[in-house]
Amino acid sequence: MTQNWQTQLASAFSNFDELCHYLQLSPSELRLSQDARTQFPLRVPLAFASRMEKGNPADPLLRQILPISDELKIYPDFSDDPVGDLPSLKQTGLLHKYHGRVLLINTGACAIHCRYCFRRNFPYADLQLTKQQENDVIEAIRNDSSIEEVILSGGDPMILNDARLTSLIDALATIEKLKRIRIHTRLPIVLPARITDDLLTLFKHCSKKIIVVVHCNHANEIDDDVANACARLRSAGVVLLNQSVLLRDVNDNATALCELSEKLFEIDVLPYYLHFLDKANGTGHFQVSKTDALALFEAMQNQLPGYLVPKLVTEQAGALAKQNL
Ligand SMILES: *Cc1c(COP(=O)(O)O)cnc(C)c1O
Ligand code: SF4
Repeated sequence: MTQNWQTQLASAFSNFDELCHYLQLSPSELRLSQDARTQFPLRVPLAFASRMEKGNPADPLLRQILPISDELKIYPDFSDDPVGDLPSLKQTGLLHKYHGRVLLINTGACAIHCRYCFRRNFPYADLQLTKQQENDVIEAIRNDSSIEEVILSGGDPMILNDARLTSLIDALATIEKLKRIRIHTRLPIVLPARITDDLLTLFKHCSKKIIVVVHCNHANEIDDDVANACARLRSAGVVLLNQSVLLRDVNDNATALCELSEKLFEIDVLPYYLHFLDKANGTGHFQVSKTDALALFEAMQNQLPGYLVPKLVTEQAGALAKQNL
């Protein structure tokens, strides 16, 4: 029998030896870096690692999570806050950058550590809102009549347990002018067992429209368990979208990107954003040039129906919306 999600999470891979042994790889062929691992720990649940190809040091899923020496290289235009989020932090846990939408950041923790993540260098990486801070954020949202959509973000908000998520979403649902609650999460992909019956009940009975934006970068991330988790979310009335990051040697070719869109659609998820990499320290080796990104985007447009082409966007400090590349 499959273990529950919290047990799976607690036993995620966190050291090189166990992961290498499981993947039948020799550490010497991987350019592993303990320093990179100290900066941002290795973390990958078995449910995700099981979709990697055994014996393949260049596996596109492995590359997303493996701490390697490339992370220590310094790139001149990279920084710790490339998207300018920190000045938009209104109070602990509340980020208000765009019109009508706020990010509610309840936790900095994630089920998986993605090496390219721009939040890897953030001061709130270990943050967990106290109940009081959460109440303060909810009151601030209630008192700002311009807010129509709350986006639970992080970290990964679905790492909170069902009781905690239920109390948060129930409280948000009492705010009349809110139209939608959106959840940005990688958990339906990384740890599909997270989609529990209690979670579905919560979504099904919520008075607000629920949107779940998953994060999947490669078709190989989608297996039967992920498909099943998405079908369950759909059955609870949830609208499903995906965001990806364009990553060198992971998905920077037209075939991989088109396959991803097709596979997402098969499981009822629509491609929403394809993010151009944010220039965060430690992630330079994932960079795809702007010229190549635009060429890939054009190739997708030429091969896919319009609704399977995600928007290619970049985050700009101080801008009023995400910008087309
Ligand atoms: C991406 C983002 C949003 C949501 O933007 P949409 O274009 O509505 O998806 C909101 N706030 C912040 C800070 C963001 O980075
Ligand atoms: S915030 Fe998202 S991209 Fe960043 S480490 Fe967590 S799951 Fe990965």
